[in-house]
Amino acid sequence: MNYASKNVDIAVLGAGPGGLGAALAAARNGAKVLLIDKNGYLGGNMTIGLPLLAFLDKDGRQVIGGIADEFMRDMRAYKTPYGVAASQHRYCPMHNSVTLYDHEIFKFVALHKVLDAGIEVLLHTEIESVNVDNRVLRSIRLRGKGYEITVTAKIFIDATGDGDMAYLAGASYEKGQKDTGVIQPPTLMFTVAGVNIDETIDYLAANPDQMDRSATIDCASGYDAEYFRKDPTFVMVAMRKLFRELRDKGEMPVDRENIIVINSLLPGEVHLNCTRHLGVDGSDVFSLTHAEIEGYLQIEKFTQTLQKHIPGFENCYITNIYPSMGIRESRRFSGIRTLTEDDVVNGIIPEDTIGLGGYSVDIHMGNGESTIFRKTPPYGLPYGITVSNEIEGLMFAGRCASMDAVAMSSARVMPICMAMGEGAGTGAALAIRYGISPKDVDVNEIRAILKDNGVILA
Ligand SMILES: Cc1cc2nc3c(=O)[nH]c(=O)nc-3n(C[C@H](O)[C@H](O)[C@H](O)COP(=O)(O)OP(=O)(O)OC[C@H]3O[C@@H](n4cnc5c(N)ncnc54)[C@H](O)[C@@H]3O)c2cc1C
Repeated sequence: MNYASKNVDIAVLGAGPGGLGAALAAARNGAKVLLIDKNGYLGGNMTIGLPLLAFLDKDGRQVIGGIADEFMRDMRAYKTPYGVAASQHRYCPMHNSVTLYDHEIFKFVALHKVLDAGIEVLLHTEIESVNVDNRVLRSIRLRGKGYEITVTAKIFIDATGDGDMAYLAGASYEKGQKDTGVIQPPTLMFTVAGVNIDETIDYLAANPDQMDRSATIDCASGYDAEYFRKDPTFVMVAMRKLFRELRDKGEMPVDRENIIVINSLLPGEVHLNCTRHLGVDGSDVFSLTHAEIEGYLQIEKFTQTLQKHIPGFENCYITNIYPSMGIRESRRFSGIRTLTEDDVVNGIIPEDTIGLGGYSVDIHMGNGESTIFRKTPPYGLPYGITVSNEIEGLMFAGRCASMDAVAMSSARVMPICMAMGEGAGTGAALAIRYGISPKDVDVNEIRAILKDNGVILA
């Protein structure tokens, strides 16, 4: 075993949207930051073929600015043989908005930003243990490639999605929906090329009943074949009738009610959000392993189903199965504030708001039945959801922050996680600047900095 140590102001564990937002904001506000990830690249779920939802609210108003929007501006300035590396934010009657981007180029753009901000990066390292002394988080121990690395910092931001650092620190958390404890099922994302999406759209135009939705899905009018034909920036949720018929015949390898096709910027390519794994807990390594195996087996069979039954997909072939299972929901930790279902559905924007959420409540039902999709007004993300109420020096960014299950189902989307991270990182940097606890930082000062940086707060 080799041993090493690092001493920084702020250590951010997890380089997904929450961690990137937090690390960039903290470093740009003067803190010495270490950004750690178990992967060999930056981005977390920003690299698994998903679209960005939530830049616009249900009425088409832009509600996310700041670092998340800066990323998309930089991606739009990035020239590629097929055009540029990101689309505009397009209004969507179902998802409020869709922004498509090139996930590989995102990795470059993220790396440039992180290096430009002077952030130290440590990859291929996973958290092993923590040192909590008298309810203060003093240091964490990482393990990677035969190294044991001790990181001492004044503030640690958990942006691992599952909250692995907070869990090891003994912080209290909740999992699953209220009353039932059921967790939203995860999905292993994959990409296929050789698709003629115009043929799929033509089929939907000729068979509009394939756009039927379950009664639990709240969608504005105009989500139809014409919408897909007008502009390639779309996410197509369709084929419910066909899937039901295939299921009745025993020919459906995946236990889900429709297909989610994310159009790609690359010609002939689409990303598929289709596997489903009921009863899986992504924060449990045995459950996760089971799901990962099931994911591969589902993708293999489901690709044959696509080739056989979906017009436009006859010649499709797999070009990417993403490195690990996408987890929609696991641990949610306790903060000095908790974002609740009431806050979200009533569009509450409190005085300590550090960013807005403009996305729907979106719960993939853990019993496999359907999805609950409920439009909400834009709501505020309170600073306190990022600050542990139990362990000094511990903060959260992303889906492990302090939210109830319904609020999390909305705030989990990536631009909102990044906005939350930007607020948390700014608060953490001010705490370092003044030598105080993150919970004692003046939120008005955080908000003034965020506003100057283009964050939308009202
Ligand atoms: C199938 C699926 C579909 C989705 N669809 C959309 C969509 O269409 N649009 C949208 O905007 N959002 C979507 N989401 C939501 C979104 O992807 C996540 O909620 C969001 O990425 C959470 O951000 P995060 O920063 O909290 O975590 P993540 O993006 O998961 O990032 C966590 C990072 O922490 C690292 N990490 C984890 N554990 C450790 C550890 N122990 N040690 C070191 N590093 C660690 C990981 O490698 C990763 O890089 C979807 C999610 C899923 C799963």
